[in-house]
Amino acid sequence: MYAIVDIETTGGYAENHRITEIAIVHHDGLQPGKTYRALINPDRNIPSYITGLTGITNEMVSTAPRFEEIANDVFEMLSGKVFVAHNAHFDYSFLKKEFEHAGITWQTKKLCTVRLSRKIIPGLRSYSLGSIADSLGIKINNRHRASGDAEATVQVFDILIKRDNEGHIGKALKRNSGETILPPNLPKENFDALPAKPGVYYFLNSRGSVIYVGKAANIKKRIAGHFSGDAREWSRQNIRNEIHQIRYELTGNEMIALIFESQEIRRLWPKYNQAQKYRVEEWGIYPYEDRNGYLRFSVNTVMRGSQPLVRLSTKGDAWNFLWEKVHAYELCPKLCGLQQTKGLCFQHQTGECHGACQEIESPKKYNKRIQKMLDSIRQKGESLVILGKGRSAQEKSLIFIKEGSYFGHGFADRKQSINSVEEVQKLVRPGVETPTIHNLVSSYLANVKGEEVITL
Ligand SMILES: [Zn+2]
Repeated sequence: MYAIVDIETTGGYAENHRITEIAIVHHDGLQPGKTYRALINPDRNIPSYITGLTGITNEMVSTAPRFEEIANDVFEMLSGKVFVAHNAHFDYSFLKKEFEHAGITWQTKKLCTVRLSRKIIPGLRSYSLGSIADSLGIKINNRHRASGDAEATVQVFDILIKRDNEGHIGKALKRNSGETILPPNLPKENFDALPAKPGVYYFLNSRGSVIYVGKAANIKKRIAGHFSGDAREWSRQNIRNEIHQIRYELTGNEMIALIFESQEIRRLWPKYNQAQKYRVEEWGIYPYEDRNGYLRFSVNTVMRGSQPLVRLSTKGDAWNFLWEKVHAYELCPKLCGLQQTKGLCFQHQTGECHGACQEIESPKKYNKRIQKMLDSIRQKGESLVILGKGRSAQEKSLIFIKEGSYFGHGFADRKQSINSVEEVQKLVRPGVETPTIHNLVSSYLANVKGEEVITL
């Protein structure tokens, strides 16, 4: 009734890697039965660090069958059986992929001996196969080879069956007909208690440190999406194994969630958000004075802590922005970093550039127009409040923009009236304006719908 499985692979995730060895042991609930093992030619190089771990070399698999050639045997061993593995999602995702390659649709109920061990043998320091085996006095021969690890998993599973006085195995089988495959170390109750509401959520590791911050219009749905079988970016990272707890903070609406998320990422700088930082790349326009005294501009990615004149989301946007200014203030595109010609710029012919690029126009005269442009950009903006849905029906959310930049956000009673800067300052918690918030607020203000904004 059970098929206990272990595989070795060329790397950590099914999308880009393949199986090099498989071991399957049948178990009828009382004792182990039929076994199957095979080396598999993965049709690709096995990285040396993997060989260092498993002892499986390119030479060893070069004469082995490809998965397609043994797919029917493997399928026969697995069909009609509950799939059991230590960190079942890993082995399952690889096998599913290999079967797909071979043109076979395969699906089955699974049991994860990591999850079961946490329930049935609580309080262990670690639930890696090695550690559990250690604490249970199981000796593993051939650690990190499929047969050795499968054999150890069989012994762990034997003990789990014997100690399962509360029916955890039965419960796990009943519920895992669903599609969401929870990370092995995350308690089911924690996941079940997540709200289907907008907010910011935190993944915590075994030490309680935040390893990832995310935001969602529906926390429960988003997290279920992370953990579902086809969320590639999540199955390829160790993050699944590291998640031990999920916390959240409700925000009432998605815009507050986005603001709060960006502040929390900046404050906590969780390691799995760092890996995604390319997403928040920004371009900035920076003024500087050259050796001859002309004010010029450069366009660069915005580094943390730097204060560009303007922030834009692409380099193209930054260039378009500068071109507009070149036309509006009769500036030199060369000095603005938009052209790289020898001698005079092209705009000199049209008369737009007065010749600053060849020092025909003096820095003093030229900089006057630059200064005008700078003043228009640095002009103080309006103070206003953007209203949104609160965390409950009695509440509304507030985002306070003070003189054109984000000041803070908060929540207030739905009926609370807001008439002055002083009033709103008491209602919001001041916070940093991250680049994300800056962009969000400016794009929101660019097409405001009247009733959601109060101008102060
Ligand atoms: Zn010029």
